[in-house]
Amino acid sequence: MIISFDIDNTLIPYLDEFEVEDKKLLSKLLRAEPLRKGTITLFEELESRGHEIWIYTTSFRSKLNLTKTFKSYGLSPSRIINERINRAQLTKHNCSASKNAKLFGIDIHIDDSKGVEMEGKKYGFKTIILDIDDNNWTQTVLTRIDNEYA
Ligand SMILES: [Mg+2]
Repeated sequence: MIISFDIDNTLIPYLDEFEVEDKKLLSKLLRAEPLRKGTITLFEELESRGHEIWIYTTSFRSKLNLTKTFKSYGLSPSRIINERINRAQLTKHNCSASKNAKLFGIDIHIDDSKGVEMEGKKYGFKTIILDIDDNNWTQTVLTRIDNEYA
C-alpha cells in the first residue's frame, strides 16, 4: 500500500511537542530538521512489509529540503507532495479541502489533524490520526494498519 505521512506535528515538531531522533553526523552537517523519535524504525518496518512511504504535507518546504532532511537520517520516501503540488492537484479537481489523499492514489494517510480526518470521511480516503502525546505512536500506526487496513 501507499502510506503517506504529514510533516508538522506528525513527524517534525513545531517546538518540542515530542521526543526526536538523535541527530546523526549527516543531519547535523546538513542542518536537517529533527524527526520524531521512532520515525526511522517505523519507516523501515513499513518498507519491510512491502509498503511504499510518501510524504504529504501542506507545508511549503521545498521537496529538496524535505528530501535532504529524510536522507540525513538514512530515509528515502518514494514521493514528496508539498503544498505547491497539493494545491495544484486540488485546484485541478475543484476540491476545496486542505488535503485529499484520494486524488494522489494514497491508500492511508497519517496525520495529527482532526480536520484531515473529517476530510478523509468526506472525500473517501483512509486516515490514521495520531495524538501528539502518543509516545507509542509507531505501534499505534502498525496496529491500526494490521487491524483495520490489512
Ligand atoms: Mg500536521
